[in-house]
Amino acid sequence: MTSPHDGSYAAALTEIRRARGRLMVCFFTFPLYIITIYRMLGNGYDITWLMLAYMLLYAVFGIGMSVKTCPRCRGQFYVRHYFLNPFRRTCSHCELAYDDPDATNS
Ligand SMILES: [Zn+2]
Repeated sequence: MTSPHDGSYAAALTEIRRARGRLMVCFFTFPLYIITIYRMLGNGYDITWLMLAYMLLYAVFGIGMSVKTCPRCRGQFYVRHYFLNPFRRTCSHCELAYDDPDATNS
């Protein structure tokens, strides 16, 4: 782990990318979830716990992504005003790219 004073945003940007990746896994597995729910309902299974678990996972990853702050401007990286934009690749305030290998605070 790097110190916040070492001149690099690499560690913080890696965490920001990982938070986005976790929510994207939920986003892209949603069709699989729908198919599973459909088949379980067709076979008479109770889907309550699967639905609650999936929603909880979505909420945890969404909150984890929304609280990530930009290492340069200290604003919420993915949230401009009230809404989370999971497709964003730059800071919503200062446009710092989350995959910029040369980003430093100098
Ligand atoms: Zn920023």
